[in-house]
Amino acid sequence: MSLIDDFLARWHEYRRPGYYEEFDYHWTMTVDLDRCTGCEACVTACQAENNTPIVGEDAIARGRHMQWMRIERYWEGEYPDVKLRAIPMFCQHCDAAPCETVCPVSATYHNQDGLNAQIYNRCIGTRSCAVYCPYEVRYFNYNNHHWDEPLDQQLNPDVSVREKGVMEKCTFCIQRIRQAKDAAKDDGRRRVQDGEVQPACVQTCPTEALVFGDRKDPDSAVSQMLGNERAYTVLEELNTDPSVVYLKKVDADAA
Ligand code: SF4
Repeated sequence: MSLIDDFLARWHEYRRPGYYEEFDYHWTMTVDLDRCTGCEACVTACQAENNTPIVGEDAIARGRHMQWMRIERYWEGEYPDVKLRAIPMFCQHCDAAPCETVCPVSATYHNQDGLNAQIYNRCIGTRSCAVYCPYEVRYFNYNNHHWDEPLDQQLNPDVSVREKGVMEKCTFCIQRIRQAKDAAKDDGRRRVQDGEVQPACVQTCPTEALVFGDRKDPDSAVSQMLGNERAYTVLEELNTDPSVVYLKKVDADAA
């Protein structure tokens, strides 16, 4: 099978009606922009939880930054009537992810949790996924990073420390999802309950702007949020079907 045939076969599979209904879970996050203050506590929590290295000024100057989530800032209006808009941006875990169809070794794929997963051991570093990602949320690891003592003590043992040459990105803290699923299994429960698992960013957000859960559970908090009239997905016109849904900011002045 040629590369293009392989690409098309995978694309048609992802678009097949009912494909996503077959998954065990469909983890989804909502981001209420009316609550987000742009404080970046979520960014720091993500960095600490996922052993994300601090690459330093030189690397950043060369465009080699490494943070699995960022707060995008936009200014609206003219001075002095300017308004700050802050939008947390991270992997959107698209149901029809362009990155998955172009990876030549299937290092990125859709798993049974409805997540866009990344297999570091399989990644050969072509970076084609990053080129095709319209949200620019995939980060290439250019170096083997080192944590000086005692900072190495803060590394999370549940998350691998990645080596250079692989692509990295937000996983919705899959290690926490695994723990919750294991706990449910130990308790003899078939499914993880709503609210039982929270990625680090959700847990840390002081304004509770982020809500995480399984959209296959119609009673979950996140499913309730999806019906909100302010709900939208970023770059909707690309038909990537993101699993991150934003709630528009309410502008009192615009009324
Ligand atoms: S922690 Fe919450 S309020 Fe702060 S930037 Fe992140 S999402 Fe926004």
